[in-house]
Amino acid sequence: MRLILLGPPGAGKGTQSQQLVEKYGIVQLSTGDMLRAAVKAGTPVGQKAKDIMARGELVPDDVVVAIVADRIDQPDAKNGFILDGFPRTVPQAEALDRMLKAKGTQLDGVIELKVDEDALLRRIESRVAESKARGVTLRADDNPDVLAQRLKAYREQTSPLVAYYAGKGALRSVDGMASIPAVTAAINGLLNGSKEKAKTRRPRRKDGSVRDGADQPGAGRRSAAAKIARKTANLGVLTKGRAGN
Ligand code: ADP
Repeated sequence: MRLILLGPPGAGKGTQSQQLVEKYGIVQLSTGDMLRAAVKAGTPVGQKAKDIMARGELVPDDVVVAIVADRIDQPDAKNGFILDGFPRTVPQAEALDRMLKAKGTQLDGVIELKVDEDALLRRIESRVAESKARGVTLRADDNPDVLAQRLKAYREQTSPLVAYYAGKGALRSVDGMASIPAVTAAINGLLNGSKEKAKTRRPRRKDGSVRDGADQPGAGRRSAAAKIARKTANLGVLTKGRAGN
């Protein structure tokens, strides 16, 4: 399973990634976490990224693409991964397409968490207040001024990815304003729907021939499942021919 979670800062990508990691046994690859680790370790990448991140701007594409290219080659990412915070620009998405194509793999889907900006501000403010109360060191960019810049970067540089992936038939959106378990359920529904589609599209007899379906017992159930499958059709169907576009 190779997924992208797309959404503005504070949309809940990290929280939902953790649930998916447990359910599907895949790794969460957060470029924000990787960059923060690099800053902490004082590596050349970290030195380059530190001030840019503190201002809420985006680190250059080539830096982030190199980190991701390296990370998805690690053995623990072999079974799949959730990208959280990457891609964040169209050139990053194009680079990812090329990387996956070169490996002979493709994305299974792109899930957009839709949230409104007022709620994001409130969420980040309460995250800051909770961290302070627990005595946890705050992220350099978790303050209202920098958040405004992070949202601006999202609107201008990242939100075009919604159209980019919609154009490939890979985008599915969920309401990120719902409760955490409700968002998790919605995402699981989308992912199961795509599996259901694979099961229901071409029912076969034991001898391998394709069943018509309409005159079969249980056809009603199958057609309901097919309806769901149609709604969720194309989840993750970045076909090889289109992936490089
Ligand atoms: P957020 O909580 O805002 O979604 P992240 O933890 O994903 O933030 O990222 C924090 C910061 O790291 C970003 O504001 C940006 O400076 C940098 N960053 C993370 N991922 C990328 C990326 N794919 N491209 C460029 N910069 C990135």
